[in-house]
Amino acid sequence: MSATILLVEDNPANRKLATTVLEHAGYRVLIADDATTGIAVAHQERPDLILMDIQLPGIDGLEATRRLKATEDTVAIPIVALTAFAMKGDEERILAAGCDGYIAKPFDYKIMIARVAELLAGATGDHP
Ligand code: MN
Repeated sequence: MSATILLVEDNPANRKLATTVLEHAGYRVLIADDATTGIAVAHQERPDLILMDIQLPGIDGLEATRRLKATEDTVAIPIVALTAFAMKGDEERILAAGCDGYIAKPFDYKIMIARVAELLAGATGDHP
């Protein structure tokens, strides 16, 4: 069975492109356009992995990650930050928030798929 990926992204063009690429790679994709919706979908659907945009309206992706990693039913879901930030301090903030990795924007979609596959393979044991 193919893995389910939750994409939390407020930019419609990025959302459409990432969804197309992920679906083409065989994943089931769930979409949320803000953090509040993303958190709700994560609890409801328990996706295998979350791609989390950091710059979101309202609650940002780092705070959403902190909340998901502080809750028992979502703590084990790998979260990959999607970020336009490139500074070293930002990488530290992203990892400190609980993200399992990050992909810098604008990103190469082959790299994105490779990172997703890698994290899903590593997380298999955590998801019965
Ligand atoms: Mn954004």
